[in-house]
Amino acid sequence: MNMALAYLQSLATAYNLPFVLVLLAPIFLLIVLIFLLYFVWKIFEPRYKLYVSDLFYGVIWRWSWQGDSVVDLWCFCSTCKQMLFVDDENCKTTTKLHEKNTFFVCKTCGQKEVGRIKGGDRRYALNMIKRDIAAKVRHKTFDIYTKR
Ligand SMILES: [Zn+2]
Repeated sequence: MNMALAYLQSLATAYNLPFVLVLLAPIFLLIVLIFLLYFVWKIFEPRYKLYVSDLFYGVIWRWSWQGDSVVDLWCFCSTCKQMLFVDDENCKTTTKLHEKNTFFVCKTCGQKEVGRIKGGDRRYALNMIKRDIAAKVRHKTFDIYTKR
């Protein structure tokens, strides 16, 4: 450590620079290098990773990417943008697929049904949305510029 400081002191003397500047320059360069690596990493990241919201079945869906998988998928009201409540209670009372419905309800908008997915419970609905997201990514029809 003392040798490194002595070397930096000799550099400051040789180039007639303040010692603090010679001491902080490598740290500053390291920070700049980290930022550059971050931006290069962001530039080469696949564009679909910026696709994190869309409108399906009249409901806004937002999610994150973990690798190639959709995570933290949830629904929001298309009117007030609040988180929706999911009602799939009728799925427990019937075994007929055409009678199973998942309702998306906004309590902020007065218990209003914002949308529904027929054919199963909330797990079915979430998987259906994940399939829709994957299809848009696969066909490159997703939109990353419309904020929802
Ligand atoms: Zn609402």
